[in-house]
Amino acid sequence: MDRISLDRFAHGPKDPQDAPNRFVCMCACGCGMPIHELDVVIECQLTKDLYYSDDCFLRKSDIRHVWAGTREDAT
Ligand SMILES: [Zn+2]
Repeated sequence: MDRISLDRFAHGPKDPQDAPNRFVCMCACGCGMPIHELDVVIECQLTKDLYYSDDCFLRKSDIRHVWAGTREDAT
């Protein structure tokens, strides 16, 4: 009797991870990072823009670090 492979990808359809994931868009911050299908990224729920990372979103957002109580720029 032949040995049965326990590798779940030895039979049946190809491992979908073998194929590169479909390009979705570039990061909305302008850093040039490509975003692919199934990447975990940041979505702005207001604009629906996708950002490669937290830093990308923060860079593009109209926010800044301030000293609470003074509103002075803390960066
Ligand atoms: Zn970016």
